[in-house]
Amino acid sequence: MMSTVFDVAIIGYGPAGATLANLLGQYGLSVLVLERDADIYPLPRAIHFDGEVMRVFETAGLRREVEAISRPGLKGMYFNNAAGETLLIRAGTAARGPHGCATNHYFHQPELEVVLRDGLKRYPQVQVRTSHEVTSLEDGAELATLQVKDLQSGNTQAVQARYVIGCDGARSMVRKAMGTKMVDLGLHQPWLVFDVRLKTDVPGLPDHTVQHCDPARPMTYCNVTGNRRRWEIMLMPGDDPAQLVQPETLWKLVSKWLTPEQADIERAVIYTFHSVIAEGWRQGRLLLAGDAAHQTPPFLGQGMCAAIRDASNLAWKLEAVLRGRADDALLDTYESERSPHVHAFINLAVKLGDIIQTTDPQAARERDAKFKAGQPEIFQFPAPRLGPGIWEGQQAPVAQIFPQPLLADGRLLDAVLGLQFAVIGDQAVLNDVSDDTRAHWQAQGVVVLPARDPEVQTWLTQQGVGAVLLRPDRYILGVAQSGAELDSISALLPAVAAMIH
Ligand SMILES: Cc1cc2nc3c(=O)[nH]c(=O)nc-3n(C[C@H](O)[C@H](O)[C@H](O)COP(=O)(O)OP(=O)(O)OC[C@H]3O[C@@H](n4cnc5c(N)ncnc54)[C@H](O)[C@@H]3O)c2cc1C
Repeated sequence: MMSTVFDVAIIGYGPAGATLANLLGQYGLSVLVLERDADIYPLPRAIHFDGEVMRVFETAGLRREVEAISRPGLKGMYFNNAAGETLLIRAGTAARGPHGCATNHYFHQPELEVVLRDGLKRYPQVQVRTSHEVTSLEDGAELATLQVKDLQSGNTQAVQARYVIGCDGARSMVRKAMGTKMVDLGLHQPWLVFDVRLKTDVPGLPDHTVQHCDPARPMTYCNVTGNRRRWEIMLMPGDDPAQLVQPETLWKLVSKWLTPEQADIERAVIYTFHSVIAEGWRQGRLLLAGDAAHQTPPFLGQGMCAAIRDASNLAWKLEAVLRGRADDALLDTYESERSPHVHAFINLAVKLGDIIQTTDPQAARERDAKFKAGQPEIFQFPAPRLGPGIWEGQQAPVAQIFPQPLLADGRLLDAVLGLQFAVIGDQAVLNDVSDDTRAHWQAQGVVVLPARDPEVQTWLTQQGVGAVLLRPDRYILGVAQSGAELDSISALLPAVAAMIH
């Protein structure tokens, strides 16, 4: 029996699927989410997300709820050598950083997933079916057809959708159905993830993340939220994985910091960290997002972040195509933009992994000498640019995420922009555009914001531009010095597909 046709079917209800469903729900699109498991995956995986990701949750109308289950991490991440000397610090930020919030946030993944799932209750046109496994799918000229097995009744039903997004994790069946291959970026290393809940205050435990770059046994320590703490512990040659997860071994491994009297074990699991990226994120009506498209070692806490950025990049493009405002070639820019962006994060995570995972004592001594232990370099990773796609301009800040300034009326920028394209600029430049451009903005629902707010003016001055054109995902589509330049980039707005580089 064939049922309703959905605009979008999302396979997988992890962070990628749940975030995408929230964003598409806001656009009023009809969405079906299919998830094999009955409940949220109970074991903690991600514990960190960044300011840009908080902004996506904010766009989805969930910032307050996410703040309630997370904490800002203001102090940054420390890389210490075996002697405890700091080699390198990944800088922290103020509570209100460039995205209108802290740059780093810590959380417990199952709690975030509850927030995302609750968020969908706002959208009657978004249906969720848990305990439903997609067993096969077929792309068609007009629609894609999925075979869906109800794991409780055992019945299989066909479902149709105009687009299918495989948010179905590392072992993605959608990816396999598309014939998409993973490109191996080189790092595959087993680590033990050991989560505890403190029973008492343990004053010696830092409140920030520490990478213990000890060649005898590299480890990461993280303060998660509340009384949750995590150690990630690299497996060394000769380790017996079965022995490693035994309580007595676990307590021995962290005995420098903690005793069994001070905490309860929440879990201990060995994961192999991978660095891989798919080549071919779209085939016809089928697309991939999240771990299905890429996986990174967690040294930067960026795997889920990339999944959320995928959702943000894809949501407005799907809406434009489904509503007939853009050719479906627009969806090809999803991979071309996102793949180099996520690649940049994976490369950095692998580089940091090389620092952390040094096990040769001589190499560790050379590394320590290079980093001048005791006088640590403080680094910040500049926001990568998107790969080729819907933007126009030779250099940054074009194709980078726009910051979120505080406006003079006390609101943050995104509250004013909503889900629209936006133009922000000096009044003189805005006044100088042609009547055609003005009509054009109106027809496209572009939000026009004269730069009266000091923080916005400062950004324009620092960049040496008179106006900036933003996409609904807050990436910079183009910058202009004059009304004529603004006319030129604005002319590209409706036929977005024509802007593909
Ligand atoms: C130890 C560890 C630490 C990490 N730390 C961080 C961190 O600090 N920060 C960060 O950003 N990331 C981190 N990550 C990565 C992060 O957890 C993942 O990137 C994220 O969970 C991926 O989300 P996803 O929605 O793409 O996939 P998943 O969460 O894997 O969800 C996929 C879903 O699809 C479902 N599914 C699969 N096949 C089917 C099917 N055929 N039919 C129906 N449903 C199906 C699955 O049941 C699953 O629920 C960490 C990962 C690990 C392992």
